Amino acid sequence: MLVRLQNDLPQATLDSILLVCKELGYSSRLLNESRTLLELEGLGVPEHRSKLEDLTGVRAVLEASEARELHQKRPGKEATRVRARGASFGDGHLSLIAGPCAVEDPERLIDIAKRVEAAGATLLRGGAYKPRTSPYSFQGSGERGLESLRAAREATGLGIVTEVLDPRDVELVGDACDMFQIGARNMTNTPLLHEVGRTDKPVLLKRGFAATVREFVLAAEFILSEGNENIVLCERGIRSFDNTTRNILDVGAVAHLKRATHLPVIVDPSHAAGRGDLVRDLARAGLAAGADGLIVEVHPAPDEAHSDGAQAISAEEFSRIVDDARILAGLDGRRLILPNTPPATLPVESLS
Ligand code: PEP
Ligand code: MN
Repeated sequence: MLVRLQNDLPQATLDSILLVCKELGYSSRLLNESRTLLELEGLGVPEHRSKLEDLTGVRAVLEASEARELHQKRPGKEATRVRARGASFGDGHLSLIAGPCAVEDPERLIDIAKRVEAAGATLLRGGAYKPRTSPYSFQGSGERGLESLRAAREATGLGIVTEVLDPRDVELVGDACDMFQIGARNMTNTPLLHEVGRTDKPVLLKRGFAATVREFVLAAEFILSEGNENIVLCERGIRSFDNTTRNILDVGAVAHLKRATHLPVIVDPSHAAGRGDLVRDLARAGLAAGADGLIVEVHPAPDEAHSDGAQAISAEEFSRIVDDARILAGLDGRRLILPNTPPATLPVESLS
């Protein structure tokens, strides 16, 4: 049996749970550092299950055969809807994230923020800490970048999505953003996954470029197992033998994940394409496969961008994507959330 325990149990409560397990004839083993998962080995008598479920500090008791992983779709339960400031992902709601790859100078960031908000984004993206393939590439502007993001949030109604690379920075970055981004290069950084899992802030988790779908959902499982359910999965393309596009957008994975998990799934057509001219087409493909939103790199002067200029698109091209998204969402009864949508007008009905 698997026992899910509440977070931050006092030692005395945990000890008394362990004692009851022992008295019932089970040997027990805590499976994680945060002490929320307890594995029991023994007879598995059905009556023991309800006895254990009644104990203070126990959230649920599962038979090994029915121990569902936390990301899995729950029969009869609605899909998870993740909200971050004005954005809403999942359960029939789509939202769009847009902005530069990296935070550059503050005025330019505010200018981009205003343009993408006018076009229809509800969240501004921009990395203050950049995970680069080479140590000699621009590594981001760090705390100054976080300040610029705060200023852009003040200047617009947009929420902020920005990447956190290091578990020690979770508090610092969390103070400046409405949604953490965990990038492809950090999908398997388990200390980081644990740390964001201990917050209740939404997390945009990107698929590693060589990660299987199974590894991707297990990365989400690390966050979920700490108690944070506010996860948006992001397919951003995987590596292949072909370099016509930077990566291969795995639309099959998007369609699969929409069926297999209750978590929202969005698509990043920018890192998948690596070329601005293909971003809109891949965005459409992702939405047609069922994505609950997009994250798109937008820059007014791609040649001057500190990183990923080749895949940046203009705000005008982004606004065409917004129009596509509105239409594609409507095709299957979903709704694109636009800036300044009053909460009362948001649809409550969900897709079956
Ligand atoms: C990014 O969003 O700028 C980024 C670095 O993306 P990824 O982690 O998907 O490469
Ligand atoms: Mn980028």
